[in-house]
Amino acid sequence: MPAPVNLAQAIAVDGWFGRLGRCLWAPRCLVCGEPARSRLDLCPACEAGLPWMPPACLSCAMPLPQPAPGANAAAAGAPGPPRPSRVHQPRLCSACQHGPPPLSEVHAAFLYGFPLDRLLPRLKFHRDLAAGRLLAHAMAACFAGLARPDVLVPVPLHRARMRQRGYNQALELAHPLGRTLELPVHAGLLLRIRNTSAQSRLDADARVGNLRDAFVVAGRGAPPPHVVLVDDVMTTGATLHAAADALFDAGVDRVDAWICARAP
Ligand SMILES: [Zn+2]
Ligand SMILES: [Zn+2]
Repeated sequence: MPAPVNLAQAIAVDGWFGRLGRCLWAPRCLVCGEPARSRLDLCPACEAGLPWMPPACLSCAMPLPQPAPGANAAAAGAPGPPRPSRVHQPRLCSACQHGPPPLSEVHAAFLYGFPLDRLLPRLKFHRDLAAGRLLAHAMAACFAGLARPDVLVPVPLHRARMRQRGYNQALELAHPLGRTLELPVHAGLLLRIRNTSAQSRLDADARVGNLRDAFVVAGRGAPPPHVVLVDDVMTTGATLHAAADALFDAGVDRVDAWICARAP
């Protein structure tokens, strides 16, 4: 017969350790380190300051002119992800009305700015997966009401860049996003076959030339009809447009893009 166990002692120790653990490992805000009190691992101040995307052009994700103050008080509302009624406004900016880009819809969760300028580089260059999960959850909250694609496809890195960095930040966003929205992620559908120089050093025209024929669709079967490209930041859109062109060439009917942050 096993020796009697002093459960009271165990519970007392567990309670002490539990309190210590909650104190030492209480969730901290990923931006400022203050105690986090939200699902997103942010403190209330940092969560309230997130630069959620205002109503934006469906084709390029640039913010659209806002109504005069007071004209649409209900739409201003409390801080948080845009409500579906705002997301679905079928509006294009004047540039896209004259020459729409190839993507059917482009949605960004945030404008690029504080604290995205801290969280996204931490994900991209330091593999901060906690920052990636926070951003992916925010993206899921924004994109849950959109037309559901057959697959999510992270914008791929060239294999040389992948070897150097060890991971693809777009895939680190796409995985938790796909899990939350119950959408499959097909990371191997699109390949980056040219190791293009860093886009951030080029102007808009040079970015387009730099990316010509940079992507190709892998495999011989019919590709899924509706693809959503996932990426961390959109600047001119040249990378997304080149990736979309490769998907259209392979027979994809519709390509959208879901982006974490839109740079101006
Ligand atoms: Zn904070
Ligand atoms: Zn536009």
